Amino acid sequence: MTRLLPITTLLGACLALFLSSASLAQSPAPGAKTILYCGRLIDPKSGQVLTEMSVMVTGTTVTAVQKGYAPAAAGDKTIDLKNRTVMPGLIDSHVHLEHQTSPNAQLREFTVGTAETAFESTVYARTTLMAGFTTVRDVGGTGVNIALRNAIRKGIVVGPHVLTAGKIISSTGGHGDPTHGYRDGLYAEPSFTETVADGKDACIKAVRQMYKEGADLIKITASGGVLSLEKDGTGAQFSDEELKAIVATARDYGMPVAAHAHGAEAMKRAIRAGVTSIEHGTYMDDEAIGLFKQYGTWYVPTIIAGKSVADSAKKPGYYPAVIAGKAIAIGPVIQGTFAKAYKAGVKIAFGTDAGVYAHGKNWMEFIYMTEAGMPALEAIKCATVNASELLGISDKAGTLEPGKWADVIAVEGDPTKDIHAMGQVRFVMKEGVVYRNE
Ligand SMILES: [Zn+2]
Repeated sequence: MTRLLPITTLLGACLALFLSSASLAQSPAPGAKTILYCGRLIDPKSGQVLTEMSVMVTGTTVTAVQKGYAPAAAGDKTIDLKNRTVMPGLIDSHVHLEHQTSPNAQLREFTVGTAETAFESTVYARTTLMAGFTTVRDVGGTGVNIALRNAIRKGIVVGPHVLTAGKIISSTGGHGDPTHGYRDGLYAEPSFTETVADGKDACIKAVRQMYKEGADLIKITASGGVLSLEKDGTGAQFSDEELKAIVATARDYGMPVAAHAHGAEAMKRAIRAGVTSIEHGTYMDDEAIGLFKQYGTWYVPTIIAGKSVADSAKKPGYYPAVIAGKAIAIGPVIQGTFAKAYKAGVKIAFGTDAGVYAHGKNWMEFIYMTEAGMPALEAIKCATVNASELLGISDKAGTLEPGKWADVIAVEGDPTKDIHAMGQVRFVMKEGVVYRNE
């Protein structure tokens, strides 16, 4: 592979030394092949569960997948996953690696700084990888997520591949306005570096600002939301003109646009403007479904987030009253929306809003997807093949094929028989490095 220049080999070796003392991670010897013996191997592309398969890994990539347990040559390493179900590393298209739900989270704005956020995010990144999610799309934080992505890429921090939106672009008083709900004087008016933007020109500038800061994609809040101190969780918060300016500018820089939207009007405007995905999509109506299909827009449901905020809202004092009310009303609706969208043939990519609930429980989304009528193999396809397409990395991730990243996980049990097996991750390999093997 051209990726493996001598300097990266050296870095890889240093990383391997660091990791082997600090964790379970083990790197293969340079040039040697690792053979994974897979009792069951899920191919999400064909929807088949293959038995007694070998996956060959050299360096960071898969080099072959073949029937039977291939004999090892001298120097080859073998990993016995004969009692496991093996599949491509999972992809979560909607996470927030900078934080995790807690009571009185609003207070964190005043008590937790950038450095502390950065340290905490490394723990969440590691937890996510160990749960079998080898790639995530971070759809918004303070911008620490960009530094986190870079640190993971450099091998300084253990975590999944990260594509990040950096900060969320929001209108004034919108779901992503970080100063919403606080009294005058606590904050200065948010500037363009906080990506609060009103009007076409400011929206263009906000997208360029995110490009400059190193974002991989653009995230906007097209409607109100649940976990912000605003009264309306569903109304449209950008005009058609603003949305078109955002999408056109993002396209210039090769960045897809993810649009948070609960209300139907907000998602219709965003779809017509050409966004790549709608996040949550709670009050999707038939007209919106038609637009999803007409424009080929992706739907990222986050059922677990809806259920989890509704549960937390029942605990006295967990959220301020304005948030609790929205959480109870909006949260439980998403699973029904998901069922409707799936039946109608909307393109679905797996996403959970991790951070809104505890990182590492991302797999529970599979339970809710199957509860709503999607077969297990289809749900796994959403978290592999589909999500890799949404993220624009289907040449590297989503399936186990020669030339792709050796991102491989194995679970105990058979998720096609009992979906809870997705929570029983026993093996995690990312780019050929084993991070977990029990
Ligand atoms: Zn989110």
